[in-house]
Amino acid sequence: MKFITFDIEDWFHILDHPETSNPSSWDKFESRIDHGVGLILDLMDKHELKGTFFCLGWIAEKHPHIIKRIDAAGHHIGTHSYYHQLAYEQTEDEYRKDLSDSIKILSDLTGKTIDAYRAPGFSIKESNLWAFDVMAEEGIKYDSSVFPANRAHGGLPQFTTDQPCKVITKKGYEIIELPMNTASLLGQNFVFSGGGYFRLLPEWYLKKLFNSQDYVMTYFHPRDFDAGQPIIPGLSRFRKFKSYTGIRSALEKLEKTVLYKEYYCLQEFSQPTQKEIIL
Ligand SMILES: [Zn+2]
Repeated sequence: MKFITFDIEDWFHILDHPETSNPSSWDKFESRIDHGVGLILDLMDKHELKGTFFCLGWIAEKHPHIIKRIDAAGHHIGTHSYYHQLAYEQTEDEYRKDLSDSIKILSDLTGKTIDAYRAPGFSIKESNLWAFDVMAEEGIKYDSSVFPANRAHGGLPQFTTDQPCKVITKKGYEIIELPMNTASLLGQNFVFSGGGYFRLLPEWYLKKLFNSQDYVMTYFHPRDFDAGQPIIPGLSRFRKFKSYTGIRSALEKLEKTVLYKEYYCLQEFSQPTQKEIIL
């Protein structure tokens, strides 16, 4: 199965950068979330697809109509945490509070049970595998936080599969893990179904990658398609290139490489025999 997912955050929710990592600075930035989410919802509607939208609790607090709009369009609402902080930098108590606050605001707004989660920046590492216990205790059934390759934040290259599996947590809970799937080039594993690789790789090659795998997990953001967004001040030239190149053509690319096929939301996952990963 192939899954279409979006992390619903604004253009300034960039991790690990002094101008943007502290939530107290966010109110001073212009919001672009209506525009970006509008582009996504229109395109999903056109192709009659339902996806999973991992929403920030902070977005739900500041722009509740956005969450209601996504929900009213029939999509599956998951959480992407409240304050978009790196999970491996939080204590277990801080992590639990942030996660449960996000679940509460999203379920209050939609009247639905929030059962899906993706950690900000895929920030689950060897050092915070306890996060799976907390997820299970807070009601998460589907997780998509495992990035089984190296990356700037998080990344779990030791995870032994890039396919759907059942995680048995340290305390014995079960969570369905729908990790990012990887492709391999010159002996290096990389994730092509979102982020910089998606924007930078040519359309023909992406099409080949997306179509050659039975399981695909995508991750996109409203800012990935918003050519009018401001540029974050103070980014290195490399991060600027990684963050902004290819935005103008990204929406058309999404349509031509992904949305013309059958893609699903996480709640539609069904695969009776899943590999078990015991933490
Ligand atoms: Zn994020």
